[in-house]
Amino acid sequence: MDYSQFFNSALAHLHDERRYRVFADLERIAGRFPHATWHSPKGQRNVVIWCSNDYLGMGQHPKVVGAMVETATRVGTGAGGTRNIAGTHHPLVQLEAELADLHGKQASLLFTSGYVSNQTGISTIAKLIPNCLILSDALNHNSMIEGVRQAGCERQIFRHNDVAHLEELLIAAGPDRPKLIACESLYSMDGDVAPLAEICDLAEKYGAMTYVDEVHAVGMYGPRGGGIAERDGVMHRIDVLEGTLAKAFGCLGGYIAGNAEIIDAVRSYAPGFIFTTALPPAICSAATAAIRHLKTSSWERERHQDRAARTKAILTAAGLPVMSSETHIVPLFVGDPERCKRASDMLLEEHGIYIQPINYPTVAKGSERLRITPSPYHEDGLIDALADALLQVWERLGLPLQKKQQAAE
Ligand SMILES: *Cc1c(COP(=O)(O)O)cnc(C)c1O
Repeated sequence: MDYSQFFNSALAHLHDERRYRVFADLERIAGRFPHATWHSPKGQRNVVIWCSNDYLGMGQHPKVVGAMVETATRVGTGAGGTRNIAGTHHPLVQLEAELADLHGKQASLLFTSGYVSNQTGISTIAKLIPNCLILSDALNHNSMIEGVRQAGCERQIFRHNDVAHLEELLIAAGPDRPKLIACESLYSMDGDVAPLAEICDLAEKYGAMTYVDEVHAVGMYGPRGGGIAERDGVMHRIDVLEGTLAKAFGCLGGYIAGNAEIIDAVRSYAPGFIFTTALPPAICSAATAAIRHLKTSSWERERHQDRAARTKAILTAAGLPVMSSETHIVPLFVGDPERCKRASDMLLEEHGIYIQPINYPTVAKGSERLRITPSPYHEDGLIDALADALLQVWERLGLPLQKKQQAAE
């Protein structure tokens, strides 16, 4: 039997659909964010990164790097096992306390990634609720979809951010049926925000539990970086908040925060928690340092919003098709997988600008885009250079420009 044919034909299928992915070999340079070295086929080159989810550059913050090095030097590298086998190390306990405090919750529980926290968190919570009906937003992240799938209970999808549709489904389910509403706060491909207050109103009115993924908002929104729920004053009304330490906090790991009994039950029943090694102490200390810093420092948040607004304004004024976004995400519409990839390649090879193409299945076919994420460290000159490079690429690829607009200064 020729097993390799199965893999080759699977890969050929991706090539045919123009969705075969190639990753650039990059090396970030601590202290010079967003500059990095690209190990290109033709040798090393300096590039500017415009698509990192280390949104605030915290992955290179001296306090965060310092905490990681200090802890690794003091206690070593790995955690030494699952928490059920090897116990819990102290930096992890401190991090969970920090996260519970960040979200104003009784407790939090750490997982090895945000993906795992959704997958095992949602499935475990729903499995512990008899006859649970999950109401899930149509644009939820794959990790939530997998959590819902693994829960094995009935689920219904409500149209994206459509509270009228959600209400219909809640009414249809009836008052006695246990219901879990699962959604994100900030959707990272379009940069739009869920109407959390209205969702909480509905949850309270119809007796549903709420589970909200704040992965793209923690650290960046709210006076202490608690996320959109903190910004909107509804954090206390949401039962379970889920977040990552890998994006604005610049490290690795995921978590849920909520009432003590929910967290304790997930700790006790979730396979994705029980059977995998805990995060290393150094990562936990680094994440704690990032969270603590962002609880009191608003500079990064304000500058981040300022840079995103400026990038949108400059690109829009240049006639580039910036998609509407209420947040720090700057999506640029391409609408074709081939040209999206070519635009990305040209930006990297000819302009030293790194922006990954976003193609299906990450976004719907026909809505392929470049997803730009300005950080506090993208200076005016870099934004101008980005606009110039994009205009040249747009022209070369024959992509449509919009009518010139007055620069919004
Ligand atoms: C990135 C992402 C996750 C997964 O978080 P990781 O820590 O990267 O595993 C979960 N939810 C959403 C919406 C995400 O974009």
